[in-house]
Amino acid sequence: MRLILMGPPGAGKGTQAKVVADHFGIPAISTGDIFRANVSQGTPLGKKAQEYMDAGEYVPDEVTNLMVRARIDEPDADPGFLLDGYPRTLAQVEELDGMIRHTGHELDAAVVLTVDPDEIVARLVQRAEVEGRTDDTEEVVRRRQEVYVEQTEPLIEVYRRRGIVHEIDGMGAVEEVTKRIFCALDVVPQS
Ligand code: ADP
Repeated sequence: MRLILMGPPGAGKGTQAKVVADHFGIPAISTGDIFRANVSQGTPLGKKAQEYMDAGEYVPDEVTNLMVRARIDEPDADPGFLLDGYPRTLAQVEELDGMIRHTGHELDAAVVLTVDPDEIVARLVQRAEVEGRTDDTEEVVRRRQEVYVEQTEPLIEVYRRRGIVHEIDGMGAVEEVTKRIFCALDVVPQS
C-alpha cells in the first residue's frame, strides 16, 4: 500500500496519517516531523531547513527529495508507506514517481483532506498554544496557506488525471474523518 495524504496546513493530516498507516501496517512518514526533529537536534539538515520553515516557505526540493528517498529505503517501508506532506511540488511528484517505479510498485491513492479556511486558522492558533510550533504564528500560517495554494494544490489535478484521488471532507470529529477515509479506501477499520 503506497499512499499520499494531501491537504492545506492544519487540515489534520498528521492525525489521520497515523491511524491510517497503523491500519495498513505501514509507516506514516511526515516530512514536517522529520524536519522538526532535525531542527531540534541541530543536525546539518535541520540547519538547512529551519530558515525556510520559520518563514513558511518550502524547503528546497533537492534537500527534501534526498531525505524522503533515504527514509523510504528503510526496511520498514518495504510493504508500503503513507506520505504526509510529500510531494508538495511538481518536482517532488516526479521524484516520487521515480522512487516508486524503482521498487516495481505504484502509488495506490492520493487522499486529499478538504477543510473550511476559517476552521484551519482556529485549529492552527490552538496548536500553536499546545505544541509551541515556531511556524504557527498568524503571519507564517497565512504564508504557508498561500504557498500551499500556489505550489501544492495544482498537484491534485495531476493525481486526479491518474484516477487515484479521494477527496475527503476533513471537517468534524477526528473519528468521523477517519471513517470517511477508510470508506473511500474501501476498507473496514480494525478496532
Ligand atoms: P503544515 O501544517 O504547514 O502542512 P508540516 O508539518 O507538514 O506543516 O511542514 C512544516 C514545514 O516543513 C513546511 O512549512 C515546510 O517548510 C517544510 N516541509 C514539509 N514538507 C515539505 C515538502 N514536501 N517540501 C518542502 N518543504 C516541506
